Amino acid sequence: MSEPIRQEDKIFCNKCKIKLTLGKVTLSYLGSSFPVELYKCAKCGLVYIPEELAKGKMQQVEESLEDK
Ligand SMILES: [Zn+2]
Repeated sequence: MSEPIRQEDKIFCNKCKIKLTLGKVTLSYLGSSFPVELYKCAKCGLVYIPEELAKGKMQQVEESLEDK
Protein backbone atom coordinates (compact mmCIF):
# COMPACT_ATOMS: atom_id res chain seq x y z
CA MET A 1 0.00 0.00 0.00
CA SER A 2 1.46 3.37 -0.95
CA GLU A 3 -0.58 5.47 1.42
CA PRO A 4 0.80 8.78 2.66
CA ILE A 5 1.68 8.98 6.34
CA ARG A 6 0.42 11.96 8.25
CA GLN A 7 2.43 13.13 11.24
CA GLU A 8 1.21 16.26 12.96
CA ASP A 9 1.16 18.82 10.13
CA LYS A 10 3.63 16.99 7.91
CA ILE A 11 2.77 14.36 5.36
CA PHE A 12 5.24 11.75 4.20
CA CYS A 13 5.31 9.36 1.27
CA ASN A 14 5.23 5.85 2.65
CA LYS A 15 7.15 4.51 -0.35
CA CYS A 16 9.92 7.11 -0.77
CA LYS A 17 10.11 8.20 2.88
CA ILE A 18 10.25 11.86 1.89
CA LYS A 19 8.07 14.77 2.91
CA LEU A 20 5.28 15.65 0.52
CA THR A 21 5.46 19.18 -0.86
CA LEU A 22 2.64 21.50 -1.76
CA GLY A 23 2.05 21.82 -5.47
CA LYS A 24 -0.54 22.18 -8.19
CA VAL A 25 -2.27 18.96 -9.04
CA THR A 26 -4.99 18.37 -11.58
CA LEU A 27 -7.77 16.21 -10.28
CA SER A 28 -10.12 14.42 -12.59
CA TYR A 29 -13.63 13.57 -11.64
CA LEU A 30 -16.58 12.54 -13.79
CA GLY A 31 -14.82 13.68 -16.96
CA SER A 32 -13.95 17.11 -15.57
CA SER A 33 -10.51 18.14 -14.41
CA PHE A 34 -9.73 20.97 -12.07
CA PRO A 35 -6.48 22.29 -10.57
CA VAL A 36 -5.98 22.18 -6.83
CA GLU A 37 -3.06 22.75 -4.46
CA LEU A 38 -2.23 19.51 -2.71
CA TYR A 39 0.66 17.78 -1.03
CA LYS A 40 2.45 15.51 -3.42
CA CYS A 41 5.57 13.37 -3.54
CA ALA A 42 8.22 14.89 -5.78
CA LYS A 43 9.63 11.44 -6.46
CA CYS A 44 6.73 9.12 -7.26
CA GLY A 45 3.92 11.65 -7.69
CA LEU A 46 1.76 10.29 -4.90
CA VAL A 47 -0.88 12.85 -3.98
CA TYR A 48 -2.33 13.26 -0.54
CA ILE A 49 -5.98 14.22 -0.65
CA PRO A 50 -7.45 15.04 2.74
CA GLU A 51 -10.74 13.27 3.21
CA GLU A 52 -12.60 16.48 4.00
CA LEU A 53 -11.27 18.18 0.89
CA ALA A 54 -11.98 15.19 -1.32
CA LYS A 55 -15.56 15.07 -0.10
CA GLY A 56 -16.04 18.83 -0.38
CA LYS A 57 -14.53 19.04 -3.85
CA MET A 58 -16.45 16.07 -5.14
CA GLN A 59 -19.65 17.55 -3.84
CA GLN A 60 -18.87 20.88 -5.50
CA VAL A 61 -18.16 19.22 -8.81
CA GLU A 62 -21.30 17.14 -8.62
CA GLU A 63 -23.35 20.23 -7.88
CA SER A 64 -21.83 22.23 -10.72
CA LEU A 65 -22.45 19.36 -13.12
CA GLU A 66 -26.08 19.12 -12.07
CA ASP A 67 -26.56 22.82 -12.76
CA LYS A 68 -25.70 22.43 -16.44
ZN1 LIG B 1 6.87 8.84 -3.18
